[in-house]
Amino acid sequence: MNYIIFDLEWNQAADLRTRRANSLLFEIIEIGAVKLNEKREKIDDFHELIKPQVFHTMNQVTGDLIHLKMEQLENCRSFPEVAEDFVRWCGKDYIFCTWGSLDLTELQKNMDYYHMTPVSEKTLRYYDIQKLFSIAFEDRKSRRTLQYAVDFLGIEKDVAFHRAYTDAYYTAEIVKKIKSDTVFRNYSFDTYRLPRNKSEEIKICFEDYSKYISREFSDKLTAMGDREVTSTQCFLCGARTRKKIPWFTSNGKHYYTVVNCARHGAIKGKIRLRRSENGRIYVVKTMKQIDSDGVQDILNKKNQIRQSRKERRHKKEGLV
Ligand SMILES: [Zn+2]
Repeated sequence: MNYIIFDLEWNQAADLRTRRANSLLFEIIEIGAVKLNEKREKIDDFHELIKPQVFHTMNQVTGDLIHLKMEQLENCRSFPEVAEDFVRWCGKDYIFCTWGSLDLTELQKNMDYYHMTPVSEKTLRYYDIQKLFSIAFEDRKSRRTLQYAVDFLGIEKDVAFHRAYTDAYYTAEIVKKIKSDTVFRNYSFDTYRLPRNKSEEIKICFEDYSKYISREFSDKLTAMGDREVTSTQCFLCGARTRKKIPWFTSNGKHYYTVVNCARHGAIKGKIRLRRSENGRIYVVKTMKQIDSDGVQDILNKKNQIRQSRKERRHKKEGLV
């Protein structure tokens, strides 16, 4: 399997009126990519500028950032032509890699805008190299800039940043520096396209937590009424668990629970309700082993909510 490390530059509306008049928010004006083989050696690259069809004025912020002028794009090919070549160039057996989580959504949005054949009908699995950098070299949580990562790893800086090809090039250099195969178990999923049915739902187990991405539901209630959504089996052994703290919500968007597995101890469940592209609801649920401090944190959170609800009710009833 090859690694397709790509980066995009996009332009956006120069003013509010143009923005409101268009269904496309970001128009891709450059694609840059590097292809690595399964040994993570560079075997090819791709680079092309794109002639805009939607926004004909360069947004000032974008222009300053990527040093591109409209005149440079006038004689380029259109997005559908370039994107079709890009997809063909990717080949058959590959995984996308990007710095951060934005590019894959924008690529698919732009392709949909032109009614092109999607790169995938399903939820796309990819590598977020910004995340892998943190897992391989830092604390798993922090998210650094590309420039920081390049300096950190002592990668030679022979080309300027902030153009699609150079950013893809540096991201590929970072991929090459990650030697541990276990780091590459940390897939990400681009939720622009969600699971269309139960069988396409994502269930993945990482080293220390599990992730579930649901299909879409019409509303919050239906989502929270789904058995799979609220199920709390142990993600390590699959056993049924005992509820220590039943599901509760802090704000109607995030839900928490603590359960106990006889073999694996306390496990925290977290549900995030998210809105999909077409305004429906989907769920991202994570399960994670926690220690007694972790249990206490959730208990405190729950008590805090109960307390503030009580106060609000008393205020309403004029008791305070
Ligand atoms: Zn277990």
